[in-house]
Amino acid sequence: LKGIETKSLLVRCTNYGESDKIVTLISQDLGKVKGIAKGARRSIKRFGGCLEPFTLVNMVIRPQKGLSFLEEAHVLKNFKTIKSDLSKIAYGSYMLELTSAMSLEGGNNEGGALYELLLKGIEDISVRKNPEEAAREYDMKILSMMGYLPSFLACAVCNGRLLEGNGRPFLRDASRSPDVGFSWARGGIICVECQKKSGEELSYVSVGTLKTLHAAALRTVSFTKNALAESEEIIPSFIAYHLGKKLKSLDFISSMKGV
Ligand SMILES: [Zn+2]
Repeated sequence: LKGIETKSLLVRCTNYGESDKIVTLISQDLGKVKGIAKGARRSIKRFGGCLEPFTLVNMVIRPQKGLSFLEEAHVLKNFKTIKSDLSKIAYGSYMLELTSAMSLEGGNNEGGALYELLLKGIEDISVRKNPEEAAREYDMKILSMMGYLPSFLACAVCNGRLLEGNGRPFLRDASRSPDVGFSWARGGIICVECQKKSGEELSYVSVGTLKTLHAAALRTVSFTKNALAESEEIIPSFIAYHLGKKLKSLDFISSMKGV
């Protein structure tokens, strides 16, 4: 079987045995691939020492059940601005881990869409001043692609619209802010009437944050400081709830932020 040459973003690279590397990547033509690069730590010729995250390569892959064979790689782009900035590494690592966790090997890759989304996300991290903003925007875009985008503008139970009228059906006691209830389990906001019936525990966000998150699924947006803080409260937890696990890179982000 001949190898397939395809553009790939390296997601995770670990040493294996004496001289090999196990690599997870998101490729344009094959989607998510996990493979072994034999002799990668010895062969400068075939891999040029380029097997590390935040690198875009042309990879020759021989697909196999289980671990594929990675035959050679040539660097197309090295995201140096990420590799030299701890905050960008932290949010970039989160983006890579999230993408890998949400995709199946050989699946979810109609027309290279996942690869394109991740490439755009990594480019965003490398150029935007605030990598957290790029990460939150990426959350919305990948959730949307995978069909998990939360309901931000309508009640996830009764489908009442938040932005019709004065939004009052969603606002709790006017003296408390933020005031719209969000349910991880139901994947969306819940109006006050439905909250009374369900009695479940909710996180609270403001209307402005909901609008920002909704828009972020569709286009590039800038987050206010408050929208970033509230998004960090609800989105990673929402994702963890649905993945059934917490992403490891979140601990790295927390320790970096000193919380
Ligand atoms: Zn409702």
